[in-house]
Amino acid sequence: MNKADSERIAQELKNKGYKSTPNIKEANLVVVNMCSVRQSAVDRVLGLNQKFSQLKNKNCKLKTVLTGCILKKDKAKFRGMFDEIGGVETWSPEETGSLSPLSQFVRISNGCNNFCTYCVVPHTRGPLVCRSHKDILNEVKKTVKAGIEEIWLLGQNVNDYQSPSSHLINFAKLLKILNEIAGDFEIRFSSPNPADFSNELIDTMAKCQKVAKYLNLPVQSGDDKILKRMNRRYTVKEYKNLVKKIREEIPNINLSTDVIVGFPGETKKQFENTLKLFKEIRFNIAYISKYSPRPGTAAFLLKDNVPFKEKKRREKILMEVLAKQKGS
Ligand code: SF4
Repeated sequence: MNKADSERIAQELKNKGYKSTPNIKEANLVVVNMCSVRQSAVDRVLGLNQKFSQLKNKNCKLKTVLTGCILKKDKAKFRGMFDEIGGVETWSPEETGSLSPLSQFVRISNGCNNFCTYCVVPHTRGPLVCRSHKDILNEVKKTVKAGIEEIWLLGQNVNDYQSPSSHLINFAKLLKILNEIAGDFEIRFSSPNPADFSNELIDTMAKCQKVAKYLNLPVQSGDDKILKRMNRRYTVKEYKNLVKKIREEIPNINLSTDVIVGFPGETKKQFENTLKLFKEIRFNIAYISKYSPRPGTAAFLLKDNVPFKEKKRREKILMEVLAKQKGS
């Protein structure tokens, strides 16, 4: 999502006549698009302070802008360091970004209503706001006409989509409408929440030829107590049933997931439940991250009591299982 926003910002600046440069010393404008899902990202941006001061001493025209996911309380830390600070919504939301010459992001919504306890998105981007399906349709048509072969529909909780111009158009209906556009292209989307994954959506994915048979379905943990503490709104059994239904209806589906290891209070037994789920589901790809506390989130108030070394060990075990499954 952040990459898409960066592309969108770059495109908007290009439209305004700016030219990009690989050399920061030549720039008159530097835009930092921050993702504050992890504290380390915030620290990295703070670490730019000295560099910006040196650049500004050499180039008095240099303007620095900070955008992206910024928590209110973090803004104070960046004041004085940047000439301007604003959320991504200050850049026009209709603009798309390009992933490659043949692939394009189309943002369909922004924000999220879910409040998973480890996530800053609802605090930084605010509640879910959806674009009208008519705007999305026009944009995708234009994009396909321009020769783009792959469209990525983006939203923090993409399958919670509901068109503001018609209560009948949910995410599955939107896919159906886009699938009807003439042309040789593929539709992909990111990221869905398993809790909002309907039978209608599975059926639509199965039937719509242009919807890629690829799905990232973030599970985050294979233990019910941890899922509850993460406020993920589904149980392991529900997740497994969902995967079963998806695989029955779309046998050639390529399934990936996201997992957090070492969430506060995650015992070895609870991690083993995630390991068990991994062995059982046999994901094609998995994005594994070690939990890191993020100020402003509900989980920040929980004791981060799994040592880093143990988080690394758990990450390694899952990666090894994945590699083994790929090789077999
Ligand atoms: S659904 Fe995704 S974006 Fe929304 S709070 Fe949970 S992790 Fe964050």
